[in-house]
Amino acid sequence: MDKKPGKLFVISGPSGAGKSTVIARLLRSLNTVYFSISATTRPPRRGERDGIDYHFIERREFEKMIERGELLEHAEYVGNYYGTPAKPVEEKLAAGYDVILDIESDGARQVMKKRPDAIGIFLFPGSFKVLEERLRLRSTDEEDKIIKRMEKARQECQRIDMYDYIVINDRVETAAEEVIAIMRAEKCKTAERVHYLKGEC
Ligand code: 5GP
Repeated sequence: MDKKPGKLFVISGPSGAGKSTVIARLLRSLNTVYFSISATTRPPRRGERDGIDYHFIERREFEKMIERGELLEHAEYVGNYYGTPAKPVEEKLAAGYDVILDIESDGARQVMKKRPDAIGIFLFPGSFKVLEERLRLRSTDEEDKIIKRMEKARQECQRIDMYDYIVINDRVETAAEEVIAIMRAEKCKTAERVHYLKGEC
């Protein structure tokens, strides 16, 4: 494991862009990466597991975490709270792991402010038409939630300048390869590698 602290990657993109699938795929290829498990007040979807996909908690408990300053960032999204527990992120970064956050753009903005060195990647499904089809196919949300998620998607696209990279997810394998390529390239930056040359030239 590299002794330098790890890098923080913020992955955003509309709900339904396929972030979780792309992240799950890249985690299988990279073993020095920690995926931050968010806390949320949203009820679990079928197949989601507490402590693996999210920490599913009550609203009051979430508010206590905010009060105690335990969250690196948090936001309200379509009627529910979502937030990143700060401690595991800090510990893993200090241990040299790269850390991935899958968060929406309000939270991303908070993280970029606190950690200007964080690298932002925006995942987009290619078109809003595809996005709406995916949300309907997933059929886990009521119609009004789908409309709200589509509205959020349009708002998120307007904040695109905050991100360093855009990955189009029209094929999961290719999107995951692109994110891995970005992560590897970031590790090859001169500032990351210059210590190898010290005393050599
Ligand atoms: P979903 O309900 O589809 O799992 O997530 C809805 C949105 O919340 C997604 O855009 C997802 O990236 C975002 N999200 C998940 N965890 C967090 C978090 O810890 N903080 C913030 N700000 N957004 C999150």
